[in-house]
Amino acid sequence: MNTAAWTFDNSFLRELPGLFTPWQAEVPKAPKLVLFNDALAAQLGLPGREAGGAQLAEWYSGAAPVPGSEPAALAYAGHQFGQFNPTMGDGRALLLGEIVTPGGARFDLQFKGSGRTPYSRGGDGMCALGPALREYLVSEAMAALGVPTTRSLAVVATGSGIWREQPHPAAVLTRVAASHLRIGSFEFAATHQGREAVERLCDYALARHHPALLDAPNRPLALLGAVAEAQARLVAKWMALGFVHGVMNTDNVTISGESIDYGPCAFLDTYSAGEVFSSIDRQGRYAYGQQPVVCRWNLYQLASALIEAIAAADGAGVETARALLEDWPLRYRAHWLRELRAKLGLATEHDDDDALAQDLFSLLEGQQADFTMTFRALASALTQGFDVFAAQLLEPDKLQPWFARWQGRLALEPLDPAVRAAAMDAVNPLYIPRNQRLDAALGAAEAGDLAPFSGMLAAVSQPNAAQPGWEDYSAIPADGSPHHVTFCGT
Ligand code: AMP
Ligand code: MG
Repeated sequence: MNTAAWTFDNSFLRELPGLFTPWQAEVPKAPKLVLFNDALAAQLGLPGREAGGAQLAEWYSGAAPVPGSEPAALAYAGHQFGQFNPTMGDGRALLLGEIVTPGGARFDLQFKGSGRTPYSRGGDGMCALGPALREYLVSEAMAALGVPTTRSLAVVATGSGIWREQPHPAAVLTRVAASHLRIGSFEFAATHQGREAVERLCDYALARHHPALLDAPNRPLALLGAVAEAQARLVAKWMALGFVHGVMNTDNVTISGESIDYGPCAFLDTYSAGEVFSSIDRQGRYAYGQQPVVCRWNLYQLASALIEAIAAADGAGVETARALLEDWPLRYRAHWLRELRAKLGLATEHDDDDALAQDLFSLLEGQQADFTMTFRALASALTQGFDVFAAQLLEPDKLQPWFARWQGRLALEPLDPAVRAAAMDAVNPLYIPRNQRLDAALGAAEAGDLAPFSGMLAAVSQPNAAQPGWEDYSAIPADGSPHHVTFCGT
C-alpha cells in the first residue's frame, strides 16, 4: 500500500472560518470499486490501481479515511431558478481537502453521495449509481473536448440501495476541481458574514486562481473581471459544442471557470436555440440559447455580493463594475466568435464572420439538423461537395446560399481543402455523450452490465478521430424518441 503520495494542504479550512462544518462520510455497507480514473490519479500523483481495488474502494467511499484528508461540508448560498436561498451548502458532498500535485498544482478532492450533512435539509445525502456514472462520463467527455471542467476520479458503489421513484444502487463519486468556490460562496459570505469575510474570500479566490491579481488596486473588482472572463470563455465553449448545462443556479457557477455539477445536462441532438432537456426547467430559463443571458445574470449576483468590498477599495470601482457587466455580451461574443471561426475552418478574421456564423444558426432553426454532425458534414463537404451537408437538412435549398457564402469566405484564405477539413474535424467532435444512448448505458450499469457505459466512455474520451466500430456513437439513435428529457441527478 502506497500512502506516501497523499499530499494534502487544506487551506480552505485554515483560512475561511464560518464557511464549512467539519464532518465525516457515512461508512458504507459494502463498498465496491466501479470506476477508477488511472490517468487522472497519475496526473495528480495519487496512489494508482497498485493500491488494490479493495483499498481504493475503501478510500473513495468513506470506509477508510484518506490519509491527510480533513473532511468538511462547505456552506454556500445560491439563486435557484432566480430565487435566492441564503443557506444551502454541501447537502450530500464533502470536501476531503486539497491535493498538491508533484508539479505544485492544487486541486480539491470531493465526495458526492457520502451521506447527510448539516446542510442536507430534507435530502438523504445520497447519490444513485446512474447519476454518479453520468457525471463521471460527461465530465471526462468535457475534459477531452477541451472544456474547463471538474474531473472524476472514482465511483464506488456503497452496497446500499436508495429510492428515487424506484430503487437504485447508491454510490459515491470522487470529484476533482480547481476549487469548489462558487458565486454562491460569495453570496453566503455577503449575506451571513459581512464585508471583511467577503474580502478574505476574495483574496483566497485570487490566490488560488489568479495570484497575479493580488497586486490589483481593487482586488474585488479584479476578481469580478476575472470571473466574468472565465465564464465568458466557458459558456462560449458550451455553445460551440451544443452543451446545455440545465441548472445554471449561482451555486453551480464556479469562480475558477470550470463546468460543475452534471445533473440534468445534455448535448443538443437536433439544433434549436430554445432546446430544454431538464424536467425541472419548466420555464426554459436554462435553455440552450439562454445560457449566455443567464451567465451574465449570475455575474450580476456575484457583483452584488462583492459590491461593498469593491466600493470600500475605491469608490470609482462600482462604476467600473457596472460598465464591465454592461459590456459583458461583447466579451462573450468575442469568445463565441473565436470558437465559431475554428468550427467553420476560418484561420483569419474578417468583419462579416460574426454574421456568417450567426446566420448559419438562424438558418438551421427548424431544419432538424443534428448539431454535432452538421459541423462534421461541413468539413466533409469541403472535399465531397454540398450534398454531404445537404443530407443533414430538411430543406437543403434554404442553406445553399449560405453554403456558397461560406465558400466565398474560405476563398479569402486559400488552403488545401483536406487540410482545412482536418483542422475542422480537430475541433468539431464526432463522438459526444448522446442523451438517449447515455441513459440506456446508465440503466444497464445499474442493472449490473457496465459494458455499454465503458464503450461509450472510451468513445467520448477520444471524441474527434473516427474509429471503426464506433459508428453508433456518432448519431441520434434511430429508435429514439424525438424529444429527450433529463432528470436532476439527485
Ligand atoms: P444541485 O442541484 O445538485 O447542485 O444541488 C442543489 C443543492 O441541493 C445543494 O445544496 C445540494 O447539496 C443539495 N442536494 C442535492 N441532492 C441532495 C440530496 N440527495 N441530499 C441532500 N442534499 C442534496
Ligand atoms: Mg450544485
